[in-house]
Amino acid sequence: MTADTLVYDIGNSRYINLTDRCTLRCQFCPKHNGSTQVHDYQLKLSKRPMAEVIIPLLENPAQYKEVVFCGFGEPTLNLKTLLSVAHYVKAHGGNVRVNTDGLGNRLHKRNILPELAACVDRLSISLNAQNEDVYNTHCKPQLPNAYQELLDFIKLAPHYIKHVTITAIEGLPGVDTAACEKIAKQAGVHFKKRFLDQVG
Ligand code: SF4
Repeated sequence: MTADTLVYDIGNSRYINLTDRCTLRCQFCPKHNGSTQVHDYQLKLSKRPMAEVIIPLLENPAQYKEVVFCGFGEPTLNLKTLLSVAHYVKAHGGNVRVNTDGLGNRLHKRNILPELAACVDRLSISLNAQNEDVYNTHCKPQLPNAYQELLDFIKLAPHYIKHVTITAIEGLPGVDTAACEKIAKQAGVHFKKRFLDQVG
C-alpha cells in the first residue's frame, strides 16, 4: 500500500490534504469521475490525519507563499486538525488559506468563523452556482438546505475574515459566472472564476 499524500506543492504554496470526505458529490470533482489524483498527487487517504502528523511535514511555514488547506475533501470536516495546524503556521510566520465548500457551520451546528478567524488569512468559498437548482444539479449536496446555508456562510464570513473570495467554474452547463460575481458584490467579498481541472 502506498503512503498517504498529506502535503503536496503547487507553485510556491504547500497544500494540506486533511480529509477525502465531503458532503457534496460534485459532478466535476475528480473523485466522482473515477480519479484519485490531482496534478501528479494521489490524494485518497487511508485515515484522517492528526496535527502531529502534518506539522513535521511543514518544515518552515514562512518559506511558502501560502499554506493551503485544500485536498480531496472538505477541510472543515477535520476541523480540529485544521485549527491546530493553522495556528502552528501562523505562529511560525506563514500565511494560511482555507478552500471550503462553505458548509462548515451547517456541519458543526455552530458558527466556526471565529475559530477560523484566529488562524486563517484567506478564505476561498466554492459558490459554484447562482441558484439552488443549478447548485443541486452540479454539487448534489447530501445535506438538506445546503445552498441557503452556503449563502448564509458567505454573508457572515467577511465579518470575521478580511480576505474572502467566492468562486464558480466557467463553462459548466447552467452556471452563470456573472450572476455569481453579483452575489459576491452583494456580500462584499471577492470573486474568482475557476476553470475545470485547475486546482489552486
Ligand atoms: S466540494 Fe470539492 S471535494 Fe467535495 S465533492 Fe465538490 S469538488 Fe469534490
